[in-house]
Amino acid sequence: VLSVRDLTVSFPQPGAGRVAVVQGMSLDVGRGEIVGLVGESGSGKSVTAMSLLGLVPDPGRVRAASIRLDGRDLAGLSFDELRKVRGGEIGVVFQEPIASLNPAYTVGDQVAEVLREHAGLSRAQARERVVSLFGQVHIPDPAARLGDYPHQFSGGMAQRVMIAMALASGPRLLVADEPTTALDVTVQGQVLDLLLELREQTGMSILVITHDLGVVADVADRVAVMYAGQLVECGPTEEVFRRPSHPYTEGLLTSLP
Ligand code: ATP
Ligand code: MG
Repeated sequence: VLSVRDLTVSFPQPGAGRVAVVQGMSLDVGRGEIVGLVGESGSGKSVTAMSLLGLVPDPGRVRAASIRLDGRDLAGLSFDELRKVRGGEIGVVFQEPIASLNPAYTVGDQVAEVLREHAGLSRAQARERVVSLFGQVHIPDPAARLGDYPHQFSGGMAQRVMIAMALASGPRLLVADEPTTALDVTVQGQVLDLLLELREQTGMSILVITHDLGVVADVADRVAVMYAGQLVECGPTEEVFRRPSHPYTEGLLTSLP
């Protein structure tokens, strides 16, 4: 589904010219596959994800040999074109669900807006579809919660709203940047179970970014490890866990409980 070749992202650094924070990154995510992207803080995971979505902020420069989504190259697209892909063919979920939602609108309206934009649904159709999406992500009593505002949801429930919103456009790829980091441990497992279930139901692919190898062990078919802006290891999760080939991965694994 996704194939990234030779991605480099640089930012101007005071007194140091441009510094590449992601260097020569290549990554594939197959159909229905869950790939875990791990690495320490600052290693370039989020910047990599943002490049796929055209979200790298302005002085940043993104270069890639190619970024293909189902064969279509996104590397040459304009900002507006990428905006349509994001939230369309690619769904996004971030770490802080409540902060990612607009506090001034009900969650029902926010998800309905995505449906109206991407699926061209009428108001009534969109409302019905939001109820079914909320049901799909297991929000209890979905119809009753459409009129609630983001702050009325717990972290875990808000993350379910975000996932419902990401699903609204029927994406082929879901990019989840630290989707469980802000949640307490019991809720983390529930959100990961939901991702696995949605993959089964929809066949969508998922790129899950995390610094938590436990998350990778739970859901990822393959794992990609970044270190200092570079991909240092990539392979089936079990193999990488059993026989890491890079010293950084080895260190990560020994720190697992
Ligand atoms: P974390 O686990 O903390 O989320 P990360 O792997 O996601 O870390 P990134 O957010 O991708 O790390 O950041 C990679 C590097 O890029 C960091 O050194 C960061 O300071 C730099 N960086 C990110 N965004 C910008 C920006 N807008 N301007 C300048 N530098 C940036
Ligand atoms: Mg990050």
